[in-house]
Amino acid sequence: MSWATCTNGHAHWGRRGAAGLLLAERGRVLLQLRARWAHQGGTWSIPGGARERGESWVDAALREAREELGLSRHDVDVRGSSRATCGGWTYETVLGVPTGVLSLADLAESDGHAWVPAHEVADLPLHPSFRLAWSAPDSPLVAFVGA
Ligand SMILES: [Zn+2]
Repeated sequence: MSWATCTNGHAHWGRRGAAGLLLAERGRVLLQLRARWAHQGGTWSIPGGARERGESWVDAALREAREELGLSRHDVDVRGSSRATCGGWTYETVLGVPTGVLSLADLAESDGHAWVPAHEVADLPLHPSFRLAWSAPDSPLVAFVGA
């Protein structure tokens, strides 16, 4: 995996774009505390990361959620996704709900996790990319959690 430079001149993680899993239940969203040593460590975000060759956006998001929080794809009912682009680079947020009671673990790149009420999310130290997506006007992410 490697960095990509978009046409706006930014460095984005993931040469083929990146994907994350936004899991929502009863007005709360599952957030992950990024490990101190990771990029933007100590910030909260959704599990996610660079898309690998040949992977769909959904597969990439579910793989990252498994690697970071121990989620199985059977734990997730995928309801849709939301795409954000920057200078030709894509970040796809996969929107889902749990199929049952989840057994979560803090694995790679994770120092913790929490179900956070939607109205408290913006008060946390968020990963800058996630803050942009969450705080965008009429954010589909906020709409999904609140739905
Ligand atoms: Zn960019």
